[in-house]
Amino acid sequence: MRAATKHISKAALSHNLNTLADLAPDSRCMAVIKANAYGSEATQVLDALERADLFGVAAIEEALAIRAAGTRKPIVLLEGAFEAGDVALAADKQFELVIATMQQLEWLLACEHDFSRVWFKLDTGMGRLGFQAHDAKAAMDKLLTRYTQQNVVIMTHFSDSDAPDRSITNGQIARFDDFAAHYPDCEHSLCNSAGVLSFPHAHRHYIRPGIALYGASPFAGHFAEDHDLKPVMTLTTRVLSVKAFKRGEPIGYAQTYRLPADGHIAICEIGYADGYSRFIPS
Ligand SMILES: *Cc1c(COP(=O)(O)O)cnc(C)c1O
Repeated sequence: MRAATKHISKAALSHNLNTLADLAPDSRCMAVIKANAYGSEATQVLDALERADLFGVAAIEEALAIRAAGTRKPIVLLEGAFEAGDVALAADKQFELVIATMQQLEWLLACEHDFSRVWFKLDTGMGRLGFQAHDAKAAMDKLLTRYTQQNVVIMTHFSDSDAPDRSITNGQIARFDDFAAHYPDCEHSLCNSAGVLSFPHAHRHYIRPGIALYGASPFAGHFAEDHDLKPVMTLTTRVLSVKAFKRGEPIGYAQTYRLPADGHIAICEIGYADGYSRFIPS
C-alpha cells in the first residue's frame, strides 16, 4: 500500500471561508473550487462551504460533478463556454457563464434561453481572458440588447494583488471603475484571495477567493496564520529508511545537498507519482 496520503480538513475549510466572508460582510462570496477545489476534492467538501453564496469553476465538467453531488447554489463557469454546445448545456443545468470573448457573446445571444445573471469579463491588465478597453463598450452594448444591467455583473481579475507594489492593482481598479461608470446598475466583482485580503474598497458585490480558502497565504513571506487561515490539506507518509552520513557527504541528484554536520537522513515514501514536485531540490 502506498503510504503517501492527503488529508483534507473540512473544519479548516469552513473556518477559512468564514474568515474571508467576514472580511467582506457586504459582499456575496463565490467560493472558487476549480481544479478539484485546488486538489481538495470539490465534491466531497461542499458541505463545508455552506456559507458560500455561489461556486466558481473553470470547466463545465466540474460544474456537472458539483451539481450531481447535490448543491443547489449557483455555479459560475469562470472561463465561460469553450464551445457553442456548452451554452445550451449551461442553460439546461442553470449554470452561469462568464462572457470574455466576442465568440462567447455571440453564442450567448444565439441561445434561446435567458440566463438570470451574466458575468462580463473586462481585461484591466491581466492580459488573458476578457474584453480590452477598445472593444469592451461595443461588447457590453451588444449584451445589453438582450440583458438589462441588473442582470449583468462586470468582473475583472487581478494580476498582482499579492505584490507589495499596490500601484498595479490600483491601476486595474481605476480602469475597471472608468468602464463600470457607464453602466451604473451592473454589479461588480474584482477580488481574488489577495484582493480580498488587501483591497477592501474593491470587495464590491461579489468576492472570489480561491487559494486562501485552502489555507495558503497568497503573499510571499507570509503564512496562513498571519491571516487567521488554517491549512486544509496535509500530506503524510512513512519513513522507509534512516541512514547515517558524515559532514559534507552528498545527498540526491546532482549532489544538491551536503550535510552541514554528521547526522542522519530519513528516506520517505513519496515520489512524483504522489504529486511530489519535480522542482523541489532532490
Ligand atoms: C482562480 C480564480 C480566482 C481565485 O483566485 P485565487 O488567487 O486563487 O484566490 C478568482 N477569480 C477567477 C476568475 C479565477 O479564475
